[in-house]
Amino acid sequence: MRKFLKHFINGEWVESTGSKTVDVINPATEEVIGQISDGTKEDLDKAVAAARAAFPSFSQTTKEERIDLLNRIADEYENRKNDIVEVITEELGAPISISENTHYVLGLSHFRQAAKELESFEFTERRGSTVIRKEPIGVSGLITPWNFPTNQPSTKLASAFAAGSTVVLKPSELTPFAAIILAEIFQAVGLPKGVFNLVNGTGEVVGNGISSHPDIDFVSFTGSGPVGQKITENAAKNIKKVALELGGKSPLIILDDVDMKKAAKIAVTNVVLNSGQVCSAATRTLVPKSKINEFNEAVKEVLPNFPFGDPQNATNFFGPLVSEKQYNRVQGYIKKGIEEGATLLIGGTGKPEGLEKGYYVKPTVFTNVKNDMVIAQEEIFGPVMSILTYNDLDEAIEIANDTVYGLAGYVVGEDKEKVRKVATSIRAGLINVNGAPFDFAACFGGYKQSGIGREWGVFGIEEYLEIKSVVGMPS
Ligand code: NAD
Repeated sequence: MRKFLKHFINGEWVESTGSKTVDVINPATEEVIGQISDGTKEDLDKAVAAARAAFPSFSQTTKEERIDLLNRIADEYENRKNDIVEVITEELGAPISISENTHYVLGLSHFRQAAKELESFEFTERRGSTVIRKEPIGVSGLITPWNFPTNQPSTKLASAFAAGSTVVLKPSELTPFAAIILAEIFQAVGLPKGVFNLVNGTGEVVGNGISSHPDIDFVSFTGSGPVGQKITENAAKNIKKVALELGGKSPLIILDDVDMKKAAKIAVTNVVLNSGQVCSAATRTLVPKSKINEFNEAVKEVLPNFPFGDPQNATNFFGPLVSEKQYNRVQGYIKKGIEEGATLLIGGTGKPEGLEKGYYVKPTVFTNVKNDMVIAQEEIFGPVMSILTYNDLDEAIEIANDTVYGLAGYVVGEDKEKVRKVATSIRAGLINVNGAPFDFAACFGGYKQSGIGREWGVFGIEEYLEIKSVVGMPS
């Protein structure tokens, strides 16, 4: 049992002022594996006060000091590799290989990337007799979801520390233990007290407390649309800046000049990675009408090459969903797809054979999907692909953009002109061509209802800065 009933406030682990706790469940076994404190308003107030007190000094550190700090954090993160991999597999249900090669790597990369970006980052710029200064925003409240337990906090924390902002973090109560390791890492490298504060608990108390706190200057949130809306409403009461990383229903356009098996492999990888619990997952696959039979056959051939099941088995590519709630939600969407008249190509409702324990769902592929169906419009957050057809590229782009979301878009094809046309026409914050690997220097964030603001690299750092003009500054 992992039992962490303390919060990390002002450089030390302190008892919660409340007595309520939250159980943490291993989604592969459905067993309780630990407990955290359900933080209170008083806990949050203490954390905000510590962050506020630490701000004047931390905001004045030099960028060289912060580069050194970020690299020391990254070094210590590497030292904790085994613990991080183990905890993500336990609390999220990600197979060990994915915890190591995706989750661990993502978390680490943000600290390294922020350090690298700072090398060339200019905090002041002279324009004639005016100086433009970029100054840390103040105290940032960070609220993160469960689907990437180290990546989500790390991208925010790396950017905040690089900018010189102090923080209060509330990770998801479903996957809180990875963030506790991050707190231990910061403690081990001697991060000045109060710069980082961790208050565990629910969205209702700690989350709402952060978004409405008068002494927090900026809230960076990753999670669902409805909660993002609530946070924005709360933040509006004291004109707090908000960054939101929300959901998506991203299209993947397959051109007619590409090998359908290659395209199917890219499409399937994208839909089953992390059991489909990826906000930027390519869940709408757009296939040329002339190639649909070939593509459907290719998907049937490719999908079984992605084994799933027990996360402790490193050969599995994906595991269960994170919770019973997510399981029921995904089941509901699969039922809905069948009711709406989409053709079930693979999978369906119910638990996969032999995986009755744990929140496992069958990887499911619908074909003959129309873009106005619920399964093509709403975020499912499970390993469910919807295949749609198109007649020409203009129609493909029109379908791709016919969504309230705009987080990501994907194109698979050879024709450079067509690839460029897709890349420049899709209204989304990230376009991926032919399954290119992550680029941590790129920005991450959404158009439309996928969010406000950007994370990763230099774009993430900018979010934690205010811009000041000093007109008539003596040279
Ligand atoms: P969620 O919105 O339910 O919860 C996210 C976080 O917000 C959790 O820490 C939760 O405790 C907290 N929270 C809940 N209610 C709150 C409130 N009223 N005020 C403040 N905080 C509150 O989302 P989730 O179920 O954890 O994550 C899944 C969703 O997140 C999906 O919709 C997915 O698309 C989205 N997501 C987006 C991105 C992105 O980068 N765009 C990344 C991952 C997940």
